[in-house]
Amino acid sequence: HTKKFKKNIYTLYTDELDTKASYIFSIEHDLNLAIENNELELYYQPIIDLKTNQLKAMEALIRWNHPEHGLIPPSDFIPVAEESGQIIEIGSWVLKTACRQNKKWQDSGILPFKVAVNVSTKQLQHYNFINTVIKTLEEEQLEPKWLELEVTESILLDDVALIKGSLLKLKGIGISLSIDDFGTGYTSLSYLREYPFDKIKIDRSFIDDINRDLNGKRITSAVISLAHSLNMNVVAEGIENESQLKYLHDECCDEGQGYFFNRPLPVDILKFN
Ligand code: C2E
Ligand code: MG
Ligand code: MG
Ligand code: MG
Repeated sequence: HTKKFKKNIYTLYTDELDTKASYIFSIEHDLNLAIENNELELYYQPIIDLKTNQLKAMEALIRWNHPEHGLIPPSDFIPVAEESGQIIEIGSWVLKTACRQNKKWQDSGILPFKVAVNVSTKQLQHYNFINTVIKTLEEEQLEPKWLELEVTESILLDDVALIKGSLLKLKGIGISLSIDDFGTGYTSLSYLREYPFDKIKIDRSFIDDINRDLNGKRITSAVISLAHSLNMNVVAEGIENESQLKYLHDECCDEGQGYFFNRPLPVDILKFN
């Protein structure tokens, strides 16, 4: 009896592994066609000034409309693309599409705001990244001050000097730089020491904790103070309810983003007022 039970678990386990492995394989394979087949799409989520309630920026968040698997979230394919190198081509597409869209919004006469684009450190390390950014801004006729790059860390870095050089050049052009998911993963205090960021985005796990316990509140407040004492702006990610918003507002957090304001939405669904 026990033997059979064990065997079933084993089978189940290998089945799961097989499924997972083939899913990853097909992602990498299918991703090659995703751009030319027009399967990638950017959703946008507003980032709001907590003092004035004004729209400060739209964060571009990639989605993949896969012909068989349906809508695939970035967490399922960005890590694969980083591993395979496909992130370079995808990242260029994201940058171009986001800049073009922001230019369109500006031309439509609404009050201008920035567009925030996520870039992985793999992209920052690529020799041609700065050129791609400059060329894209020129082609799309978007001024650098309307572009914000959110740096997300997913791999351990060994090339601090190279990344720092890239960031300084981007900043010199007039682009603003944010450190994403601050406080989690590989992002740490040493990033604030090493790199010239303008803005800290507090990871939403801390915002989640605001209502849960006193430590959640304390950590959030400490990060806000830290940012301000370093002359940086601070954004709270993942605001889901009014009490979180009230706390962040009272603690002088500069900007906020989250389902409480808006979910990320496709361009044609977004409304401006
Ligand atoms: P991120 O840059 O930290 O983006 C915020 C994520 O939190 C988004 O998930 C967003 O949909 C989600 N979110 C926003 N507000 C709330 C909220 O109130 N509650 C909850 N539970 N979630 C909220 P998404 O779109 O699935 O993206 C996940 C991550 O994938 C992003 O995290 C970013 O690191 C990465 N990513 C997305 N688009 C791109 C891209 O174009 N390039 C690169 N390199 N990475 C991307
Ligand atoms: Mg981001
Ligand atoms: Mg984040
Ligand atoms: Mg992230």
